[in-house]
Amino acid sequence: MQRRDFIKTAGVAALAAGGLSGCKEQECAEPGALPVGKPTQRYRWRMVTTWPKGFPGLGTAAERLAELVAEMSGGRLTIEVLGAGELVPAFEVFDAVARGTAQMGHGSAYYWRSKTETGQFFSTVPFGLTAQEMTSWILHGGGMELWRELYQPFGIVPMIAGNTGVQMGGWFNKEIRQIEDLQGLKMRIPGLGGEVLRRAGGVPVNLPGAELFTSLQTGVIDAAEWVGPYNDLAFGIYRAAKYYYYPGFHEPGTVVEALINRAALEALPADLQSIVLNSCKVVNQELLSEYTARNPLALETLLNEHQVELRRYPDAVLQHLRRLSAEVVADLGAKDPLSGRIYQSYQEFMAHARKWSALSELAYLNARDRIQ
Ligand code: CA
Repeated sequence: MQRRDFIKTAGVAALAAGGLSGCKEQECAEPGALPVGKPTQRYRWRMVTTWPKGFPGLGTAAERLAELVAEMSGGRLTIEVLGAGELVPAFEVFDAVARGTAQMGHGSAYYWRSKTETGQFFSTVPFGLTAQEMTSWILHGGGMELWRELYQPFGIVPMIAGNTGVQMGGWFNKEIRQIEDLQGLKMRIPGLGGEVLRRAGGVPVNLPGAELFTSLQTGVIDAAEWVGPYNDLAFGIYRAAKYYYYPGFHEPGTVVEALINRAALEALPADLQSIVLNSCKVVNQELLSEYTARNPLALETLLNEHQVELRRYPDAVLQHLRRLSAEVVADLGAKDPLSGRIYQSYQEFMAHARKWSALSELAYLNARDRIQ
């Protein structure tokens, strides 16, 4: 609070200085100078989230976003962050932002696929783009324009506001040795990955994170995926399942999105609009960095302190799932013309990204970690 008060005071002082010199705002502005003395109206927003309040990584990223906006705006825009269920249930975040109950939301597009199934392209695609590639497609590959077009009828402006990186495959109480082992398996797995599981003979269940552990422990579901070691440890999922599978073929770089009510955004002065949108981008990178730093340590804790059994999906299982994934994604792309354009953009970007990653990330990681 003290820091915010300081920033506010500094802003008022700068405004006063400009006023005393008698020049107009535009005349006072020097090239490259930070904007000061803009309209003093204050705005108070609410952000609804799909995460438990303060949940490590996901929930704290939403708090961080609000903190950044308050700091950078000198307190002119403050955002109250609400956890899942505080104002609306986890999966009603999209609706709440669309109707203006809250000005912002924080979640991931596959949680509201009943509203826009095609939005799942902007969440994550099984065997699709990694976090680095996904951010690049959205910011520099035409993804953002398509995403905005998709959300336009809902009065929502989307923005990247976090990424989990490659997730883990999930938690099971039996080993997955062949594709038949997924038959009849009731698993918490959202989005397109859930549809892949369904086509493999399993039963996907879409549950908010907060309901995951109890459902698994009481046998309502047989298996579950959540995020990765850092977040899975926080929920204590190892107490309900023994085998921890990788890789998370179904979520190779999941985008955590900010939903912004268009009317609320457009009611802000230009500098506050920029602060909101760019704070989202800052948090997008910060959250990915947090996962990259915390996941390895959390995995060690799971393996060494909780005796979790780490398993890799067999190649034959991955091959089968990969074929099903291609069908699922193509079907979504065939839904309507806009879905078709998004599918085409995504596929074209990935074709290029694969060629480059083969020579860069993949080749380098192989050189670093495989060649002895
Ligand atoms: Ca997940």
